[in-house]
Amino acid sequence: MSDNKENSLAVMPVRRTDGTHALRLCLDQGLLTPDMTRRVVGIMDSCPGVTLRATTGQRMNLENVPGDRLDEVVALLGTAIPKCPPGVSVCSGGDLCKLGMQPTRSMADRLLAVIRENGPYPFKVKSGVSGCGMACGLSFVRDVGLVAGAKGWDVYFGGCATSKACPGVRIGKGLSADKALEVVGRALVFYRENGKKRERTSGLMRRLGKEALLSALA
Ligand code: SF4
Repeated sequence: MSDNKENSLAVMPVRRTDGTHALRLCLDQGLLTPDMTRRVVGIMDSCPGVTLRATTGQRMNLENVPGDRLDEVVALLGTAIPKCPPGVSVCSGGDLCKLGMQPTRSMADRLLAVIRENGPYPFKVKSGVSGCGMACGLSFVRDVGLVAGAKGWDVYFGGCATSKACPGVRIGKGLSADKALEVVGRALVFYRENGKKRERTSGLMRRLGKEALLSALA
């Protein structure tokens, strides 16, 4: 197998109740390169019972990894880390989808950078980038959501898909990429400075009201 470092995978081991382990493959926007795929298939060929499952977060899990082969399997894939870095739900966007109004993959990279720069936050920040209003990137129900239109990006903040599901508040409309990300950064600072520990952005919106955020951004 290749030892190309660019294809090295960061993996998060999770112990299952039956004593086996799942290995979360911390993929970048769901991408598996041919080299990564060969490594994964090689492991499934050599470890009977190990399977590959897509997660809801555009990542993959290798399931049923026996405990006595865990270190060996991790070494074949790359490096073990305690927690996958935050990802982003991103659709195919304007580069690939006929309905896409703007490219989404590059925007998702920039959005993640803004999220990283402005933390730490009271709780997790989930994000989504969609190339049109169909919102295949789940942008309306993410803490931070970007939705492309013909003129630019609409920005949503405070959405969630839990039992108290709600769409985010629109805090920007038809913005350039730079302006949309600037607005996101300011909203995240508001969350960082006003959120209570373990309070999601949606809880903050319920507690303070959307006007508090909108006036902070004005
Ligand atoms: S959100 Fe729009 S652009 Fe993105 S995959 Fe769905 S239909 Fe295509």
